[in-house]
Amino acid sequence: MVRETTLAPDNFIYPLFVCPGKGIKREVSSLPGQYHFSVDEVVREAEEVAKLGIPSVILFGLPEKKDEAGSEAWHNEGVVQRALRAIKKAVPELVLAVDACFCEYTTHGHCGVVVDGEIDNDATLDNLGRAALSYARAGADLVAPSGMMDGFVGFIRESLDEENFDRVGVLAYSAKFASGYYGPFRTAVDSTPAFGDRAGYQMDPANVREAMRELALDVEEGADIVMVKPALAYLDVIAEARTEFDVPIAAYNVSGEYAMLKAAAEKGWIDHDRVMMETLLSIRRAGADVILTYHAKEAARLLAKR
Ligand SMILES: [Zn+2]
Repeated sequence: MVRETTLAPDNFIYPLFVCPGKGIKREVSSLPGQYHFSVDEVVREAEEVAKLGIPSVILFGLPEKKDEAGSEAWHNEGVVQRALRAIKKAVPELVLAVDACFCEYTTHGHCGVVVDGEIDNDATLDNLGRAALSYARAGADLVAPSGMMDGFVGFIRESLDEENFDRVGVLAYSAKFASGYYGPFRTAVDSTPAFGDRAGYQMDPANVREAMRELALDVEEGADIVMVKPALAYLDVIAEARTEFDVPIAAYNVSGEYAMLKAAAEKGWIDHDRVMMETLLSIRRAGADVILTYHAKEAARLLAKR
């Protein structure tokens, strides 16, 4: 009766990795319990997710081939586009979000077009517009640009509106910190930069005021949901964002947070389920409406038992 914070499957977005091929469900070594799915298998997984009461999934693509620009990202027959069409048909009630970035698609592993060792922001925006449109055409409900390029939200919004996709929303990775917690994910999608790092376009973990400026820009440019990433080491940023902005706030409970918990539980050092629920609740308490989490399915199952 006096509980201040609630946690429900409604709060979750479940990340799914889509790979080429058929009949593939291959566990990611750095993320136990998470898989690479071929399109046919990802549909089955999406059906299961929906049955658990989780309203949304976010898709990450592992392309057939990589190139300098990451052009598979906007290919109409790319794995993500095919997965979108197939899931939309099988589970129309599921809200389909797509990660829109290029690091999984480029040979160098950076989040955009690289010129002389630096990211070319504007050339990357053009490609982002292309990718967003191809996802929208394939049935995406939310485009989630994660590369933190300057002006990326406004550019995607305009690109979508020009083709009358005004009902497709933008979930912006607005405050994405340059974090060591992304390690297991990069193994999962093979996107570790071949040179340098992403500090040029991701944020300094020390800066909360700068995070608020980034969030403000994205809200102004028309983001429907803004995200703080990672979650656990940045709960203060989530709380501050909740106070400052009226739009829904998302938090990404990232791969490193998930993997640490799995590893410690495997060693018998902590009570997995208890710590998982405490972690998810803390992200809600900090002010996140939506949590992107690899725990979504197992947490939804526990919540159903209560
Ligand atoms: Zn990226």
